[in-house]
Amino acid sequence: MMAISALDLALHDLAARALGVSIAQLLGGVVRHEVPCYASGPFIREGAEPYGAYLQEIETLLARGFKAIKPRAGVTPRADAEMALAVRELIGSDADFMIDINQGYTPSAARLAAKLMEPARPLWIEEPVPPESLAGYQATAGATACSISGGEAIGSLAGFDALLRTGAVAILQPDLGVCGGYTGYRKVAALAEARDVPVMPHMFGTAINFYASLQMAAAQPVRKSGAWADYPFVEYDVTGNPLIDLCGVPVGANGMAALPDGPGLGVELLPKQLEPWVVENWEV
Ligand SMILES: [Mg+2]
Repeated sequence: MMAISALDLALHDLAARALGVSIAQLLGGVVRHEVPCYASGPFIREGAEPYGAYLQEIETLLARGFKAIKPRAGVTPRADAEMALAVRELIGSDADFMIDINQGYTPSAARLAAKLMEPARPLWIEEPVPPESLAGYQATAGATACSISGGEAIGSLAGFDALLRTGAVAILQPDLGVCGGYTGYRKVAALAEARDVPVMPHMFGTAINFYASLQMAAAQPVRKSGAWADYPFVEYDVTGNPLIDLCGVPVGANGMAALPDGPGLGVELLPKQLEPWVVENWEV
């Protein structure tokens, strides 16, 4: 599905360029010229203080203009809750944060973590358990008032259908690079719409996937999120990724990313730009 996804994104880029329009226009029209972005980070560190640098890193991200950040969690339910409360205290009520557990917990640990984090009011708790653990999703959602999200690791429409049928996900996050590109994503979005579940692109993380996600999100209907901006958001990798830096850092001081003016994806990526990171190449 990842190979199909890459081809699907490339073909949409070619088709849009041939017509002289952006992919968002090709997909039906630009709903928003600026899309809210959230900072994906900070990340758990090895050692005695896995969350030790979080508050300092979050302050830096807020200073860069991000209005929402998504720290990783999953150390222990109690440590997660302490971290989440400290994050909420730091950012106040004008900014938002989400929690990503990256499939890290058993269902029982996920339930406890979600319950203990409730007072910190995360916008959502992402991938508390592996995507195949449908009962785990159900148990987690049943134990908390927090919204549960997931879907980044699912490649098939049947997989998304199964997750939606649990009724446990409040936000669905297909990745354009995993779910079959725009073709797959739009099928998933239609499926989710039937259950009134908002959909937003998961993105981690290359320049191509970021700009592809930006085009998709700009063409989606907006939904009230209860947060600083309407859904859908686009995820932004803040780990210092040269494959994103290649095309510039488009997130402004208002936490939004502007849709590029150009056709297709709206960015030009030349093979020459990749040369510093090439360790081997061959011709077919
Ligand atoms: Mg995630």
